[in-house]
Parts: sequence; structure tokens; C-alpha cells
Amino acid sequence: MNRDARQHSFAPSEPLSTPVSPEVLKAEVRAWAERLDVAPAEVRLTGMSRKWASCSTRGRVTFATDLLAQPETFRREVIVHEMLHLKVPNHGPLFRALLAAHLSVDTSQILRTGSPGEPQDGELPEQDL
Ligand SMILES: [Zn+2]
Repeated sequence: MNRDARQHSFAPSEPLSTPVSPEVLKAEVRAWAERLDVAPAEVRLTGMSRKWASCSTRGRVTFATDLLAQPETFRREVIVHEMLHLKVPNHGPLFRALLAAHLSVDTSQILRTGSPGEPQDGELPEQDL
């Protein structure tokens, strides 16, 4: 069992007709990293069929290219979730409180899904994609 890997499977939203560019997503990640005062060692985009993002304890954060076709609110939810894992490596009360606080700037996604962030994390080994 490898608890270093954080696997995420958020419920997808309706895809955008025009995906944003990888540069836009990485800019959003950088903006949130700065805002949350974290420093990802590496940010990557890659094809992932079953999850939206993963975060290793070494600070490498990987986002699915499919995320580029997701609405801004959904991208933000995934990005903030992963950035917070650089502070809190689990889904305990502190993590959930921080997530709710930072996503409260726009609660539409939370209201729609009824969840402020309870993604399913598996304990699969980290994929080296
Ligand atoms: Zn997580």
C-alpha cells in the first residue's frame, strides 16, 4: 500500500465547447499556489482516464488534460484541492475546513454536488505517466 499517492475522482461537469489552453490551467495553478502559500515541485498535465489530478508527497502535482475542457469553477475545485494537499496530506478536519474556506468564494459547485470536497482517494501506487 502506498499512501503517498492521492488519487482523485471528482464528478465531471458538462465539458466546455472550447477547452482552455494548458498555459491557462498552469497559470491558475500558479495563482492558487501563491495565494495558498505553497510551492509545488512540479506541475504536469497528462492524459488520465479515471481521475482529475494527483499529488505526490514529493510535491509533484499532475492534472488531467481533460480538465482543460471543464468549467472554471470545476477547475478551481480540483486545483485548490491539490494545492491544499501540499499543506495537509490527508482529508482530515483541517483539510476540509481549508477547502471549504477557499472554495467559498464561489459555492455554486458545492451547492450543485452537495459536497464541499469529499473526493474518493484510492491508495493505488503513484502512476509515473
Ligand atoms: Zn485529496
